Amino acid sequence: MRKPFDVIIVGAGIIGATCFNVLSAAGKRCLLIDDRQLGSGVTGASGCIVRVAHASQQATRAAAQGYHFYRRLAHDSQGQVPFAQTGYLHFAEPHALAEMQGWLEQEGVDAQLLDAEALARQYPTMPIAAELALFEPGSGYMEAKPTLQYLVRSSIDRGGIYHDAVKVHAIRVDPVSRQAIGVLTSNGNYEAPRVIVAMGNGTSEFLIRQFGHSFGLWNQHIQVTRFKGERALASAPCFIDDTHQLNGRWCALTGGFYVGYPTGQRVPASQGYVAAEQSHAQLTREQGQRRFPWLQAASVEGALCHSDCYSEQPIGLLGEQPGLPGGVLVASGFSGGGFKMAPHVASQLADVITQG
Ligand SMILES: Cc1cc2nc3c(=O)[nH]c(=O)nc-3n(C[C@H](O)[C@H](O)[C@H](O)COP(=O)(O)OP(=O)(O)OC[C@H]3O[C@@H](n4cnc5c(N)ncnc54)[C@H](O)[C@@H]3O)c2cc1C
Repeated sequence: MRKPFDVIIVGAGIIGATCFNVLSAAGKRCLLIDDRQLGSGVTGASGCIVRVAHASQQATRAAAQGYHFYRRLAHDSQGQVPFAQTGYLHFAEPHALAEMQGWLEQEGVDAQLLDAEALARQYPTMPIAAELALFEPGSGYMEAKPTLQYLVRSSIDRGGIYHDAVKVHAIRVDPVSRQAIGVLTSNGNYEAPRVIVAMGNGTSEFLIRQFGHSFGLWNQHIQVTRFKGERALASAPCFIDDTHQLNGRWCALTGGFYVGYPTGQRVPASQGYVAAEQSHAQLTREQGQRRFPWLQAASVEGALCHSDCYSEQPIGLLGEQPGLPGGVLVASGFSGGGFKMAPHVASQLADVITQG
C-alpha cells in the first residue's frame, strides 16, 4: 500500500506549485498532481505581473507578500527565475494614490508619486495622459514556466512528489467522520488527511460534480490585447488604471504593449484558450487611448487569452468551506490576479495545515 501524505495538492498552476513549495519547506510530505503538464492551465497564459498597490489595504498586504517572495526567488535562483523589473504605475484618484502610498510604506515597498512632468521624464517615448500616478520601481513581471519549474523542482529536492498526466476524479471522504482521506485518480488512490483544491478554471466544475455546489466560483474570460506602436518599445511599465479599468505591461519579445480591459464574459470550464476577439481589441483600444493616446494609431498584434476562476472574495476563496468535508481546502477564485497572490495563499494554507 502507498504511504499516506500529509497533504495532496490538486493542480500544478502557480497556486498549487507555490503551496507545494511552501509546505515542503515547512517539512510536510506533499504530493502535487496535475492532469496535464506544468503551465498548461491559466498560469501559462498569465501576464504574471507582480505589483503591490491595490484599492484595499488587505489586498495590498497580501500582494506585498508576493512581491517580497518573488523578488527573493529571482535572487536566490541566480537567474533561473527571471523577474523583469520594469516598474509599475497605478492610476487612480489622487486621494486613493496617497492612501496606497502609505500602505506600501508600511509593507516596506518603495513607491513614489509622479506628476505629469515626472512621468514624461521617466517614459520619454511613451506619452501618458495622467496628472498623477503611483510608481513602484521594484515591481514588474515574471515568466510562468521557469517560475513553476523552479518552485516544483526545489520542492522535489526537499522530498515532495510530483505527478503529471494524472487526473483527480474525486476526493475520497470517510463516510463516518466526513473527513478527507485522499484522492481517487487515473493512477489509483492516494491517501492524505488534507487535500488542497487548486484546479484553476476547473475548480467550480469539480466542486459542483462532487459536492453539488460551486461555492460562489465561476469562470470568466480574459483578453489582454497586444498593441504595437510605430516603433518597438525598448521598455514600458506594468500598470493598473482604476479610472478606466485597464491593466497591462510591456512585451519584451515583440516590443509591444499588452492592454487588458474586462470582457465580463462568463464561460464554461471547458473554455480555456481561445483566439482573440477583434471587437474586444477595438473596445480595449478605445478605452486604452484615454490613458495612452498613442494606442489610437497602434496596430493589434495578438493577445493573452484564457479564462480564470472568479469569486466575489476580496482575494480569493481560501481554506475550508462550510458544506465541504473537513480537510478539504479550496484555493481558487482569484479573479484575474492569482499570480501575485499565490505566495500569500500558500502561506495562509500552510498556517492552517501546520497549526491544525
Ligand atoms: C490572460 C490572463 C492574464 C493574467 N495576468 C495576470 C497578471 O498579470 N498578474 C496576476 O497576478 N494574475 C494574472 N492573471 C491571473 C492568474 O494568472 C491566475 O489567477 C492564476 O494563474 C491561476 O492559477 P491557478 O494555479 O489557480 O490555476 P491554473 O494555472 O489553471 O492551475 C490549475 C491546474 O489544475 C489542473 N487541473 C484541473 N483539474 C484537474 C484534475 N481534475 N486533476 C488534476 N489536475 C487538474 C490544470 O491542468 C491546471 O494545470 C491573468 C490571467 C489571465 C487569464
